[in-house]
Amino acid sequence: MKNSKNFTLLVGSIALDSIFTSHGSHENLLGGSTTYALVSGGRFVPTHVVGIVGDDFPESGRQIYKQYAADLTDLKTEPGKTFRWGALYHADQDNRDTMFTELGVFADFDPQLSPVNQQAGLVFLANIHPALQLSVMNQVRNDATLVVDTMNLWIETTREELGEVFKKTTILLINESEAYLLTDEYDLDQAAAMIQAMGPKTVVIKQGSTGSTLWSDNERINMGIYPVDPVVDATGAGDSFGGGFVAALFMGKSFREALALGAAMASFTVEDFGITRLAQATSEEIQKRLTYLINGDWG
Ligand code: AMP
Repeated sequence: MKNSKNFTLLVGSIALDSIFTSHGSHENLLGGSTTYALVSGGRFVPTHVVGIVGDDFPESGRQIYKQYAADLTDLKTEPGKTFRWGALYHADQDNRDTMFTELGVFADFDPQLSPVNQQAGLVFLANIHPALQLSVMNQVRNDATLVVDTMNLWIETTREELGEVFKKTTILLINESEAYLLTDEYDLDQAAAMIQAMGPKTVVIKQGSTGSTLWSDNERINMGIYPVDPVVDATGAGDSFGGGFVAALFMGKSFREALALGAAMASFTVEDFGITRLAQATSEEIQKRLTYLINGDWG
């Protein structure tokens, strides 16, 4: 892994979420792909954040960013509204309907990376508008490793820009349903091969409660989940997975170990609303779940 600087760079959404599930509802919860990825990975590796919030962003959210990020130079606050997202979950927790997506201050965000952040060697471009992902990609070193996540909204509405993002992507993280949407292919091996042909040499397909699979030049790796019961709120599971996965890569771990750390961190997120449980996870608990995921037993 090429890390000329000792940090990972993270860009994605910073949101106030309204979540409705069979276990209850919460409004204006601190969320967004950046938030989950940061709280997941920031404890393991120094993480620099690129993003924007409105002047309505709560002080409690700011404290979380200060606690988990190593550098907030490129986190801007502008007059206007913080990104907001609302979702209604089906009883199975693997499926949900988006009720609203309000970009707020993200709509006109045009980040200019600090000189330090331009030197990033490993960048996690978590789920956000592909134009923003492209802008950040174009400002970092040519040889940076670029890990990208996206979602159905962007596949449906900004396919061309997403294609440009994929051309530059090193590793793509994508949900099973999004892989189908992108490729029209229901066989996952075929879908992964089609996505590799779009640019990313390595593809990770996240399959919700059944695990994840990684395809690279010479490997195909299956990773299970750490089972938790009940799943209270699945929001942010994918982003927490991404945060753990990228942190493990930064630490020089194998793809299998990176998938395991992703799955371990995601398992905490779904145990409660927002980042509540993820932020409480202890090193011992994480290690126990990692051992289970890697060995297939309780270690
Ligand atoms: P996940 O459950 O891992 O797919 O991520 C859910 C998080 O993604 C929520 O906290 C939302 O705030 C955020 N989110 C939802 N829609 C979008 C979008 N279109 N762009 C960026 N982030 C989003």
